[in-house]
Amino acid sequence: MSDDFSDTVKKALAARVGHLCSNPECRALTSGPQDDPAKAVNIGVAAHITAASPGGPRYDPDLLAEERSAPSNGIWLCQNCAKLIDNDPTRFTVEVLKKWKTDAEEEAKTRVGKTAPINESPVDLTIGSRFKITPIVPREHEQSDFLLLQIVGDCFQFEKLGTSRQVNIPKSFIEKVHKFGDTRPALIQLSARLQWVTPKRNFDLFPEKPPGGSAGACGVGKNIDFNYPARAGINGSFAREDQLPRVLSEGWSIFYDSDGRYFRWPGHEVDQILVYRERQ
Ligand SMILES: [Zn+2]
Repeated sequence: MSDDFSDTVKKALAARVGHLCSNPECRALTSGPQDDPAKAVNIGVAAHITAASPGGPRYDPDLLAEERSAPSNGIWLCQNCAKLIDNDPTRFTVEVLKKWKTDAEEEAKTRVGKTAPINESPVDLTIGSRFKITPIVPREHEQSDFLLLQIVGDCFQFEKLGTSRQVNIPKSFIEKVHKFGDTRPALIQLSARLQWVTPKRNFDLFPEKPPGGSAGACGVGKNIDFNYPARAGINGSFAREDQLPRVLSEGWSIFYDSDGRYFRWPGHEVDQILVYRERQ
């Protein structure tokens, strides 16, 4: 038995906060246009402040069914934040969520009918703090911490922790910043991708996002012929795509070109991917 919100309640919750996520550290816009001019996308969720059914996060047995599905028990969030609050109900308590809701509605109230401020949403990151960044190709680097060294013009300059590898990320490429309190590094979500580039042995920013699914772990490929690495003087070898996990665990790495793409040689049964090993 789940006491869900009606469509009317969902629409009201979204509209009361101007269709922005109510998490004060997010404020993502949750609706926008689709290619079809008659349709709109919605990434917003009417989340329950106290759970809709027993066993759910922050469930309150004292509420009546109609109270559980009433607008007062709902908060408008983006999909990411809706997941975040349900994964950690001890941090995101009923009190915290009620405060978010009140503040978001208050903020929307002060904005109604006003023109946009000149600097609409300045990205505010603290110099010297650690961050995780997504998406990064190869995906394993998303586990790494990056230190914000300084702000250079319109760019944030990051250094991968424990290395001297630096990368400048323009503020306009930062889609969202997810903060998880003081102890865990905040997560920076890019509207692009950070990409390991083998010839430069560093990270570069590329405007395309990696494809979804397991292909996204490798990023964007391009087809070449079998003799390309020899011609280009790349110290590498081809590995069957279905053998990649084993090959990578043996100390090989995927070779990425200076345009941020990896090399793929279409094989008879399985495509082969160009890998290389660091010279000692
Ligand atoms: Zn959000």
